[in-house]
Amino acid sequence: MVSVMEMNMAQRRITQERIRKKERRIAYLSMEIGIAPKMPTYSGGLGVLAGDTIKSAADLKVPVVAVTLIYKKGYFRQEIDEKGRQHELPCEWNPRKFMKMRPQTVEVHIEGRPVKVQAWEYRVRGATGYTVPVFFLDTDIEGNSEYDRSLVYHLYGGDEKYRLAQEIILGIGGVRIIRELGYQHIRRYHMNEGHSSLLTLELLRQKEITDPDSLQVDEIRKMCIFTTHTPIPAGHDQFSYRLARKVLGDFLPIKIIKAFGGKDNLNMTRLALNLSRYVNGVAKEHQRVSREMFPGYQIDSITNGVHAWTWTSDSFRDLLSRFIPGWKHAPLSLRYAISLPDDEIWNAHVEAKRKLIDYVNATTDAEMDPEVITIGFARRATAYKRADLLFMDMAKLRRIARKVGKMQFIYAGKAHPKDTAGKKLIRKILSKARELKGEIEIVYLEDYNMRLARLLVSGVDVWLNTPRRPREASGTSGMKAALNGVPSLSSLDGWWIEGCIEGMTGWAIGSLGTEIPSDEESAKSLYYKLEREVIPTFYYDRKTWVEMMRLCIAINGSFFNTHRMVHQYMVSAYTQ
Ligand SMILES: *Cc1c(COP(=O)(O)O)cnc(C)c1O
Repeated sequence: MVSVMEMNMAQRRITQERIRKKERRIAYLSMEIGIAPKMPTYSGGLGVLAGDTIKSAADLKVPVVAVTLIYKKGYFRQEIDEKGRQHELPCEWNPRKFMKMRPQTVEVHIEGRPVKVQAWEYRVRGATGYTVPVFFLDTDIEGNSEYDRSLVYHLYGGDEKYRLAQEIILGIGGVRIIRELGYQHIRRYHMNEGHSSLLTLELLRQKEITDPDSLQVDEIRKMCIFTTHTPIPAGHDQFSYRLARKVLGDFLPIKIIKAFGGKDNLNMTRLALNLSRYVNGVAKEHQRVSREMFPGYQIDSITNGVHAWTWTSDSFRDLLSRFIPGWKHAPLSLRYAISLPDDEIWNAHVEAKRKLIDYVNATTDAEMDPEVITIGFARRATAYKRADLLFMDMAKLRRIARKVGKMQFIYAGKAHPKDTAGKKLIRKILSKARELKGEIEIVYLEDYNMRLARLLVSGVDVWLNTPRRPREASGTSGMKAALNGVPSLSSLDGWWIEGCIEGMTGWAIGSLGTEIPSDEESAKSLYYKLEREVIPTFYYDRKTWVEMMRLCIAINGSFFNTHRMVHQYMVSAYTQ
């Protein structure tokens, strides 16, 4: 027999759950979300940013529900052979270990076929216990065809049709399933990049709006927020209307799709721009470039951040917690890092560095020396990031190592399976590493991921970043380094234009003139800074070095975090 009290309690739980769902006002949709190192549902910065955003939303009790896809074979596991060739291995994992499948299903139509969509629920618990649910959509379920089941296997795999089908699942399936799961009061839909912008069409369809000039379109616009993440035209998804018609079917009259999605192609960025009340770029420079790319649209800027606790090494977590109680929940208070004692900062760094060097020496045949200045470079291997800039003038590089001071370098990063230029970069770095063996120790670590990222950004002495301006919309790994007191040596692009105080938070490669510096000029500036600033300061002016570390945390750590960023989204986008 169930007692009356137990029944009452069960009833109360259900009511509370209902209230909680009612309170959820913001849906956040992203093609990738990187939230736990063991869940390979991300490829790089975009996904990691999404994960960090959700963690901060949970800490700040922002009523968000997040949606993405499950990617049962992950992005891929990277192996690099002795010739420097990248091999891509499937990364099978078991979602059941981390989350629960919800029983509700919805249907979307792909090429006229009904496809069932179900969701795994992962809960991100914030600092005070408030949780944000993240729904990982799954079509690999009974009743769906082989092909439709495969649509949730690979992140950024397959052809255009595969990609469009995934975007149907995310944008259209996403809106439908959160409603089906009981979240009936969503007021804002935040598109983290254009991949999810079909959600705008689903909202039009639900309101039965078939005339692009209808005043009701504004009601949809009021609900939509769009964050663009790349100034590279190829980074903006476009599909031919031939394909769109075939895959989307008669989802909406083509007239209305073309009115918002573009005349000649279905352009996911245009679609989001045309149907969002609030649009932003992810750094000030990126806002400027986006306005040039898309004249006629109002584009604001909210500079990216990182989740402070997630990216700080154990030793710095301890140190900061001793001197700045509460920094974990309020990274703004990292400004008080300004009074951290020198020896404490240095000891925390030495410990993080030792962990990294131990890892490198254990997993590769390198013999890295913890006393030698260690410079790190890790991010997606793709041409514009110029991982090979350091090797432009080998004689110069050798001379610096011989005359000014010993250096060692740690590289990591995956190339997209179809990015042949990116793969070539990996081969080149490995071949340069062999050439320099005995003079400059260089390793390329396999399988860059979030776990390795934390080890690297906290364990190196300097974080190197060399994108070709203005391709790096923001960049976030340098922000992670700053939280660990690690200064950046970076070309002036993305966040670094805002974060660089020369000789204090790091060093700029090149200057911020109107002319974009050539690769040769950038390399020259890189050598100059290594020779005159970075290496001499590290070996001969430890006091200044530690002062720089302190300023990295106090000035940049306190600002370039997702708590500050989410606050800005609240003020400018979510509550407007
Ligand atoms: C932070 C992070 C990135 C982004 O690095 P950028 O320097 O901004 O390109 C990419 N991959 C992983 C695994 C990360 O943790």
